[in-house]
Amino acid sequence: MYKPEYCVVALSGGKDSTAMLLGMIDRGMQIDCILFCDTGLEFPAMYAHLDRLEKDTGRQITRIRAEHPYEYLMFDAPVRRGPDSPIVRRYGAGSLGYGWPGPRQRWCTTRLKDMPREKFFRELRGRYRIREHIGIAADEQYRLERERNRNPDHVHPLVEWGMTEEDCLRYCYERGYDWDGLYGQFRRVSCWCCPLQSLPELRQLYHNHPALWGQLKEWDRRTWRKFRADYSVEELEKRFDFEDEWQKAGKPLRSRAFFSALKRRLETEDG
Ligand code: SF4
Repeated sequence: MYKPEYCVVALSGGKDSTAMLLGMIDRGMQIDCILFCDTGLEFPAMYAHLDRLEKDTGRQITRIRAEHPYEYLMFDAPVRRGPDSPIVRRYGAGSLGYGWPGPRQRWCTTRLKDMPREKFFRELRGRYRIREHIGIAADEQYRLERERNRNPDHVHPLVEWGMTEEDCLRYCYERGYDWDGLYGQFRRVSCWCCPLQSLPELRQLYHNHPALWGQLKEWDRRTWRKFRADYSVEELEKRFDFEDEWQKAGKPLRSRAFFSALKRRLETEDG
């Protein structure tokens, strides 16, 4: 059966997908839907960016959300676990919710992005041949190879145009989009509460977004899984404060002395 093509722009709101959207509009390419999977965890500046993008381009962004919000899934969802589950053995049978995501438990990607997207496409697939446009930059070879293996039908306009991540950011800045400085703080802008962020990014979150950091601390107190294998949110806070102290005293951070002193500080304050 013949099905017309339905072109979807997968918009995360970040520099790459924004550059892809703007480039597609500039080139007069077919766009039937601009799709944004809203985790509810974007920085306020990202939501403002999306509103502005919508206003400037005159194109509606289709915003989809999962049935349950992140907080419900993290704290309250009744997750079935057998008595032999390592989580039950370690934290007890009453450990409700998925807890913080981790490198091997990225439940949030599945539940907040993949499942709502799949639900959205399910209905369309009966009528259309969907062509999803993904904002992978030309210099993201590893991601691109993985993507091409998993989703051979996806289109990668930035790769076709030879636009690197740096090109995308420059292009967006030239068009007046600056996300209120988020890209000066973070290499990748995604969920503000993601435990998979790097230490430098978490440091930026602590120093520049105190309200969000306060929320992170509160969530960390409420859940059973530690924020990261090496640090709880409170321990991270102590580390960042200690770094400031250490630097003010003119001492280098990248030294064995710093890490020994930090270990002592954390042990003293935890004890
Ligand atoms: S950015 Fe982090 S918190 Fe957000 S969906 Fe991805 S893994 Fe989960």
